[in-house]
Amino acid sequence: MTKRRWRHLDTSQNSTFIEADVPRVECKEHGIHSVGVSWAEEKSRFTILFEWLVMWIALQSRGVSRGLARKKKEPDDRSIKLLEM
Ligand SMILES: [Zn+2]
Repeated sequence: MTKRRWRHLDTSQNSTFIEADVPRVECKEHGIHSVGVSWAEEKSRFTILFEWLVMWIALQSRGVSRGLARKKKEPDDRSIKLLEM
């Protein structure tokens, strides 16, 4: 058994970790390695849900910055009038 720890989604704004004793096995293909767990990718230190959240936040912030960049290029009539005042 190997004690492993994964960063999971926050619980009530507190950092949450999952710890588990994971059995080690020996197979002909990979040698000695830990058994896979259903909540995380192999060798990852984060749960799948945590990784999805990080990706979602990254995609959202990319969309926001693209939207802001578009706004800077194409000012609407109100901002042009304010600039002319
Ligand atoms: Zn194997």
